[in-house]
Amino acid sequence: MKTQLLDLQKYLGDNNYDIAYISDPTDINYFTGFYSDPVERILALIVFPDQDPFIFAPALEVGSVKKAGWDKDVFGYLDNEDGWKMLADHIKDVKSDPKACATEKDNLTVQKFEIVKKHFPNAEFPGNLSRYMENARLIKTPEEIENLKAAGKEADFAFEVGFKAIKEGRTEQDIVAEIEYALMKKGIMHMSFDTIVQAGANAANPHGGPEKNLLKKDELILFDLGTVHNGYISDASRTVAFGKPNEKALDIYKVDLEAQYAAMDAAKPGITAAELDKVARDIIDKAGYGEYFIHRLGHGMGTSEHEFPSIMEGNDMVLKPGMCFSIEPGIYIPNEAGVRIEDCVYITEDGNEPFTHTSKELKYID
Ligand code: MN
Ligand code: MN
Repeated sequence: MKTQLLDLQKYLGDNNYDIAYISDPTDINYFTGFYSDPVERILALIVFPDQDPFIFAPALEVGSVKKAGWDKDVFGYLDNEDGWKMLADHIKDVKSDPKACATEKDNLTVQKFEIVKKHFPNAEFPGNLSRYMENARLIKTPEEIENLKAAGKEADFAFEVGFKAIKEGRTEQDIVAEIEYALMKKGIMHMSFDTIVQAGANAANPHGGPEKNLLKKDELILFDLGTVHNGYISDASRTVAFGKPNEKALDIYKVDLEAQYAAMDAAKPGITAAELDKVARDIIDKAGYGEYFIHRLGHGMGTSEHEFPSIMEGNDMVLKPGMCFSIEPGIYIPNEAGVRIEDCVYITEDGNEPFTHTSKELKYID
């Protein structure tokens, strides 16, 4: 069993929980190496302080659970069966009348919670396992870091393909298709989020997607992409020059790169998340573009891209070895151009190492 699961069992015992009901797919993945979003079906990892855990899953997922390396019990149910009752019966086989249940309250819907309560009328649900999960996932093990490195390598490959695909007459969507086709041919089947390719003024919309925009000469093109490797993600951005962008576009690139390098230099044990955000923000402010840097410097990542630590003003968490997060300053001038340069890194004993290594010096493509 993974050390992550042994740690959870100890936590349950120390805090007098009879059972943990884990339903967040990224948490299940963290504990078992199996990832699936069951949508409306039931997928649960049930953990006890002193007995073996089990997985309860739709019957059509049972094979994949085993294939992912899970060597404890896995029980399946068919769509026409009463899955909730079956799950409750499997729990009662191990613990006939659980009293204190740990649940991820950030994830469990009210509808599902009410069903669980109906099957276990004597149960109470103290605390919130979501807070435990945030802390457990905060410091990555060496094995997790190896998976994140492998995902980073895949992102570097994706950039290489994407840059080569840039040609007049193609659209942003064409470039996304080229990237994902090349990845799939290599056996990399999952992106960690919808690939972003945005050219010219469209890149000033940081969370907008690629469109049918034709790529035009003399504009910046922004790429933001990532893959999933053994359940661990990559997330990286690069901005390149197609032809010769104007002075202002080149200036925001220069400033953003300076901010990104400065934050990469400053990310080490001892600095707080807020201080790190400020390192990059001060450079962009001083250059006069502060109002165009409209998001935090970075976010934690691992089995998802929304983890701790959040690198932003107000977060006084001190960075420690094993923490993984993005460093992604961006400057977005509405109706003109946008730049974002992003690497995810892990904190080491005396600094940090990025997961992606694609050059950040402005690349000119003819
Ligand atoms: Mn990104
Ligand atoms: Mn990111």
